[in-house]
Amino acid sequence: MLLEKMKREFCDNMKEERRWRKLQWMAVCLVCLLLVSLYQNNKAVKLKNTIDGLMLQEAVSSKVQNVSERKKVYLTFDDGPSRYTEEILEILRKENVKATFFVIGYEGDIYAERYRKIVEEGHTLAMHAYDHDYKKIYKSVENFSHDLEKLQTLLEKETGVKPTIYRFPGGSSNSVVKPSVKQFIHYLNEKGITYYDWNALSEDAMDKNLTPAQLNKNIMKDLPKKDPCIVLMHDLGDRHGTVDALEPLIKKLKAMNCEILPITEATPAIQHVKNEEK
Ligand SMILES: [Zn+2]
Repeated sequence: MLLEKMKREFCDNMKEERRWRKLQWMAVCLVCLLLVSLYQNNKAVKLKNTIDGLMLQEAVSSKVQNVSERKKVYLTFDDGPSRYTEEILEILRKENVKATFFVIGYEGDIYAERYRKIVEEGHTLAMHAYDHDYKKIYKSVENFSHDLEKLQTLLEKETGVKPTIYRFPGGSSNSVVKPSVKQFIHYLNEKGITYYDWNALSEDAMDKNLTPAQLNKNIMKDLPKKDPCIVLMHDLGDRHGTVDALEPLIKKLKAMNCEILPITEATPAIQHVKNEEK
């Protein structure tokens, strides 16, 4: 009887111990599972961060690429201001575009107001000639410098801004300058003035009867091949075609994803006769 009782107690103890061991194993397994899942989770987060980082990097580099790949176009108007300057400014304002005006020296309040408006609206007021007479200004360095200083003084007086950007009447490669344009380039360098020619043109100065479509077609002959592209147009009171062509031109350039900018000292020099002193 006693033996029987001892045997039963022993068996009960054994069962208890087995249950206890089972519980211990289950706890160990649970902890292991928890650790494995934490590890996997951490790995997934790290992987996600890496992917996000790569995607961000790619997005940034493609954005930089897009910005740098945009063609830079500079719209320039020579020989103004004129009675159409205000209309040109209005179109530029509406399209939120800045341009460059290579102006002539005109005295009087009407012109002073036009010079001022060009500056106030954020465009570049640049020099062309006080007196647009090739034979006179290109006769000697003395004539040339006298003409340019007169223009620079006038523009500074009327606008408070001293212009330092210049375009040779007829361009630096014009056939009137003899024996060489280099003497004038030397003078410009001494005065800290930078000259710009062009590498696309509407031909509005050659034929005042060209339609807006023809003017823009002329520009588009060269523009796709040039970057940066400096476009030559004219602000002349005897032809309205340039004004009519301007809005369609800007819309077309925007559709081509071009960046339209005013010329500044930072603009790469487009020069028909290179400035070898620089
Ligand atoms: Zn001119």
